[in-house]
This record gives sequence, C-alpha cells and structure tokens, in this order.
Amino acid sequence: MRKHIVAGNWKMNKTFGEADDLLNDIMTKLESTTLDANTQLIVCPPFPYLEMTSDYSDDSYFMVGAQNVSDQEVGAYTGEVSAAMLESLEIDYCIVGHSERRAYYHETNEIVARKVDQLLKHGLKPIVCCGEVLEEREANKQFEVVKQQITEGLFHLTPEQFGEIIVAYEPVWAIGTGKTATPEQAQEMHAFIRSLIAEKYGNEVAEETSILYGGSCKPSNAKELFANKDVDGGLIGGASLKADDFIGIATAF
Ligand code: PEP
Repeated sequence: MRKHIVAGNWKMNKTFGEADDLLNDIMTKLESTTLDANTQLIVCPPFPYLEMTSDYSDDSYFMVGAQNVSDQEVGAYTGEVSAAMLESLEIDYCIVGHSERRAYYHETNEIVARKVDQLLKHGLKPIVCCGEVLEEREANKQFEVVKQQITEGLFHLTPEQFGEIIVAYEPVWAIGTGKTATPEQAQEMHAFIRSLIAEKYGNEVAEETSILYGGSCKPSNAKELFANKDVDGGLIGGASLKADDFIGIATAF
C-alpha cells in the first residue's frame, strides 16, 4: 500500500519563536489525534528552523523536509545550502521545483533534475513539484506541460532512484488562491502522471509512487481530494501554518 503523505510547506513564514509555538501546537494536537498508521507527516520549515524541527521529529510519522537545495555539490555559491549539509543535519526530505521557485528564481526542469541528483546522492527523498499555470489550463495544455516537467526533471533516473521520488501535482492557479482543483481534475492529472511513470518504469514502480495534490487544500476539502484512487496525500501551504488545519488535513484519509 502506498504511503499517505501530508507535507507542510511553511514557505518564508514565522519567526523563530512563532515556529517553535507552531511545532508545540502540532505536537500537542497530535497527542490527542489518532492518525492512520499509513500516514506520514512532513514539516518543511525555513532553513534556520530545520534543526529545531528535527528535535520534534520522532523518526516515524513526523519527519522533516527542506524547501530547497542547491544544484551544486560544494564551494563558492554564496547563500546556497547543499544536499550534503541537509544530510549532515539528518533531514529526510526536500521540496524541489515548487512553482514559486520556478517563477521567481528561474528554476528550470534542468535545474530540478540536478537538484534531484544532489538529493539522491546524499540520501534525501525529493518531493518534486509539477503543475500548469492558468493560461496553460485554459488552453488545455496541462498534460503537455506536466509531461515535460516530469520527463525533463525526473526521467533520467534509474528505476531504483525513482523509487525514492514523491511527486506533488500543484496546479499553479490553485496555489494560495483559495481556488482548489476539483477532485475530478486532481484524479485525472494524478492518473496521467502515474501512467507516465508506468510507461517509463513499469507498473510496479508507478503503483508505489506517492503522488500528492497541492493547491488550497484545507480540512474542508481534503477528504474529497484524498478519496481519489491516485491522490496519496497533499503538499500544504497556507493551511500548514495552523496546527488545527494541518492535523485536520492529516486525518482526512
Ligand atoms: C504550496 O505552495 O505548495 C501550496 C500548496 O500552497 P497553498 O496550500 O497555500 O495553496
């Protein structure tokens, strides 16, 4: 059975004290919550709070992820954080190719591919984002766009390497807009992504790959999104900044 994953992307939010409060709230809430045994929570805070977040992690259902990584190994890259550094902090996951990084920091599919390689080399699991912008959806180009992102970002991997990948489908028009994809739109794209993986790596790898939905997911819509056969959880932005909402989504399976 594929893992159910709910990953919180805090983006550039929270001061140190606020981050600590949120982690405390999440832990307190978890104490009185029964999560499905197959559910994995991942919290992706800003870099300066990775270690503090790791202190809360129990290495089982609550794990820690970074939001970004350098595509280079080591050296004179001011401001960058390498996969080796994340490995040395025992960070388990890292988001790659988020639409905000693609749009504001010119992260191309080629850069995504190099970041994925760095993460795999250092034993981290990449959470690789893909998704179309509104104009592409309106022009019915969403499948073409996502196919290109997946092919150029991931299909250089061996089947063993691909086994470490988590895919997150995030229609850009749904991110932070309050406009969620319908369960049918999500299922249609997730099934398409799985079929691409099956074509390249075979059914077994495709069936084992967790594909998350992201885009204005909240406790009120998580259940109907997660009920779909190919939706294995969510990458959560805004709603991951409130313990009640984050845990509310995690209990929606
Ligand atoms: C995201 O940025 O990954 C995201 C899903 O954001 P939100 O939940 O706020 O739409």
